[in-house]
Amino acid sequence: MSMTSRSSRPRIAIVGAGPGGLAAAMLLAQTDASVTIFERLDHIGGRSATIKARSQAGMFRFDTGPTFFLYPRILAEIFVACGRRLEDHLDLIRIDPQYRLVFEEGGEIRATSDAADMAREIARFSPDDAAAVSRFMADNRAKLAAFRPALESPMNSALDLLRPGVLKALPGLRPHQSLDRYLARYFKDERVRLAFSFQSKYLGMSPFRCPSLFSILAFIEYEFGVWHPRGGCGAVMTAMARVAEDAGVDLRLGAPVQEILFDGRRAVGIRSARGTERFDAVVVNADFAQAMTTLVPDSIRRRWPDRRIATRKFSCSTFMMYLGLEGDVPDLDHHTIYLSRDYRHNFTEIEQGLAPPANPSFYVQNACVTDPDLAPPGHSTLYVLVPVARRIGAGIDWDANRDSFRRLALERLQRIGIRDVERRIRFEKILTPTNWEHDLNVYTGATFNLAHNLGQMLHMRPRNRFEDLDGVYLVGGGTHPGSGLPVIFESARITSKLITQDLGLTAGRATDTSLPADPYQPALKEVV
Ligand SMILES: Cc1cc2nc3c(=O)[nH]c(=O)nc-3n(C[C@H](O)[C@H](O)[C@H](O)COP(=O)(O)OP(=O)(O)OC[C@H]3O[C@@H](n4cnc5c(N)ncnc54)[C@H](O)[C@@H]3O)c2cc1C
Repeated sequence: MSMTSRSSRPRIAIVGAGPGGLAAAMLLAQTDASVTIFERLDHIGGRSATIKARSQAGMFRFDTGPTFFLYPRILAEIFVACGRRLEDHLDLIRIDPQYRLVFEEGGEIRATSDAADMAREIARFSPDDAAAVSRFMADNRAKLAAFRPALESPMNSALDLLRPGVLKALPGLRPHQSLDRYLARYFKDERVRLAFSFQSKYLGMSPFRCPSLFSILAFIEYEFGVWHPRGGCGAVMTAMARVAEDAGVDLRLGAPVQEILFDGRRAVGIRSARGTERFDAVVVNADFAQAMTTLVPDSIRRRWPDRRIATRKFSCSTFMMYLGLEGDVPDLDHHTIYLSRDYRHNFTEIEQGLAPPANPSFYVQNACVTDPDLAPPGHSTLYVLVPVARRIGAGIDWDANRDSFRRLALERLQRIGIRDVERRIRFEKILTPTNWEHDLNVYTGATFNLAHNLGQMLHMRPRNRFEDLDGVYLVGGGTHPGSGLPVIFESARITSKLITQDLGLTAGRATDTSLPADPYQPALKEVV
């Protein structure tokens, strides 16, 4: 194999400029390594990219995926480690009330971190449940504190579970308890339980299957806020790429990696359209299952061969509509979640994957109420997400079902007061599970990656220092700690530390890392 090595500095390749890849690049660029990102698309951000659509009226901008920006602390610390301050690069707006929940069964909750208002909202369903909120918050504050060491450290083997900080947290995992069952200890009304468990959607899982550990997701929203970065989550990606490039990262767009090259089990380089290049370490940010099954020979993967990957549990997929509208939707909150009456059945349909759900729950973001510049003057954007099945076997024929499901989704928007929408559409883009799979390289269209059941968490998730190969590392939603932006940023931090150790890199090029890390900590008002 003839490969060119251009410098004597250790060379690191990152496959993918998604949030995990960009965060890893920022951190690794602070060492003496030379860092190259290969991104197959002509833009950064992956599932967190900005969709830009020019219309006659001007530009519409949508986030492709994430719209809830949670727990900014981790990214703020990463910026500090790079000698920057997140608040100099991004304008984060706290959304409060953080979202409106509409129940088909009847009733609404405007979820807020204002303790008195939230108690009033919940008391309308059940006074006892309102009283339990502060107990839920206190218990989950302790749970997050106990579990943080496990979330912030690598899980290289089962032995890592025995580390003192981690061991202490294990009982709190309640391995066999679902999130819904756990919440029944606090809340009697099923709708209130849903208000504290629908967040399992961020993991693409049903609250009836999702491990109870993930009650910390709702807690994090109330404790640390739900934020909107001005310009959308895509603006976060732009800020990260800028810091990475300023630090010397070679960011190559439109540069798909075709193969990771090995000498035995050791990664030695990358093949792309430009030819082969030698690298000392390869960081995979591309979707884990997709990347392994296409870029790495099956025969050298012991723990994660193709047939095992195929039988793992994966998250659901999503049917997306990005609508650029003439006029606005003034009475609609920034975030609205509609929970259908047969929520359980809805999830069963999604798990079976035989047909599109008949009576789906959905989520709508009306970002222009907070950030009008996302649409041209006199216009607005709507982002509609409907959880649907990933491709299971032959899967649903989305080419055949796309139009009828679009009609169903538009009709259902009326349930949250959005009427007369179709006539006003000036731009429209739809993503089905088939698009996620084929256009965005997401394995079977499972948008939120490997599921987060206990058998696929911690040391049982593909590891940051990838256990099957030497010189291959993982960042992003497919590795520890999991899917969702804050933990993806954490994965980049864990992985960068491991690479720094393994390659003996000199850390700390950033000159001033003593800046205050967390201006986002204080709650707006008294926290629940
Ligand atoms: C619809 C949706 C809604 C979401 N909502 C939220 C939310 O509200 N809050 C939240 O915190 N999280 C949310 N998430 C989850 C998560 O934050 C995002 O999916 C996130 O973008 C995943 O980041 P990642 O680092 O794993 O990489 P990805 O975003 O998957 O990026 C991987 C990159 O690798 C590139 N790539 C793939 N193959 C190759 C190759 N061969 N060569 C070079 N490059 C390659 C891809 O093009 C892509 O740019 C959401 C996800 C989705 C899909």
